[in-house]
Amino acid sequence: MSRIAYVNGRYVPHRLAGVHVEDRGYQFADGVYEVIAVEGGRLIDLAPHLRRLARSLAALSIAPPMSEAALRHVLAEVVRRNRVRRGIAYLQVTRGVAPRSHGFPEGIKPSLVVTARATPAAARAGIAEGCAVVTVPDIRWKRCDIKSVALLPNVLAKQQARDAGAFEAVQVDADGFVTEGSAANVWIVTGDGVLVTRAADHAILDGVTRRAVMALAAEAGMKSEERPFTVAEAKDAAEVFLTGTTALVTPVIRIDGDPVGDGKPGPFARRLLAAYGARDAAAGEAR
Ligand code: PLP
Repeated sequence: MSRIAYVNGRYVPHRLAGVHVEDRGYQFADGVYEVIAVEGGRLIDLAPHLRRLARSLAALSIAPPMSEAALRHVLAEVVRRNRVRRGIAYLQVTRGVAPRSHGFPEGIKPSLVVTARATPAAARAGIAEGCAVVTVPDIRWKRCDIKSVALLPNVLAKQQARDAGAFEAVQVDADGFVTEGSAANVWIVTGDGVLVTRAADHAILDGVTRRAVMALAAEAGMKSEERPFTVAEAKDAAEVFLTGTTALVTPVIRIDGDPVGDGKPGPFARRLLAAYGARDAAAGEAR
């Protein structure tokens, strides 16, 4: 089956989908995006993703490309046309197309692109086995709360992880505190069973999965705290795990080559991964 993308008002074959060379997303990374999970053909946590999109757009003074109702329709239509049951939808909004000049151009329309694709079953099955991470300096700008398409530091961090035989890079600020992964939030579980993740300041993206996991943890009677933690604390923690739309809840079993705990996925991460999966499956069947 051939894939379909939505580009500025048209549903087009994926291989022909393109924007103009003077799109400001292409030239300046002047745009924002969202990645939304699809389960049972339904978009999961669509409301918080659209809220975060609205916040990112407002922070950059980019006008919404269309009404929220129209955007919901386009997203659902792209998922439907691509027959995605389990996978992701990708949405990108840029400031639009204009002759190259740094300042905001007058009177242009934002560009909107939406794509969707299925997630291979193997990718998901591997999550429960846990992953290795390496720590890298966080070299990003001071507004990581905006889900900007300017992802070059994240790309370099992820590649550094791969080159070291690890799955993800854990970024560390100038004071030695963990910020987040290249595409996921980071959590630790202390020796006395408290979940800790950095508060959603400007140094990290406030993950939709992070919020969902916080709620699931509270429902399960687990204690959680939002505060910074150091790499040393993470290396000594009972457990470490990542959360994100594609990471779901991924146990971290090695940091910089050293085992976390006994080097196996721990009970908190396993329980939260199961609860998160069950929640998504229920959302995919409901409505
Ligand atoms: N942090 C970064 C840098 C990310 O890119 C992502 C997701 O891609 C996350 C955190 C997790 O966010 P979410 O749970 O909304 O997918």
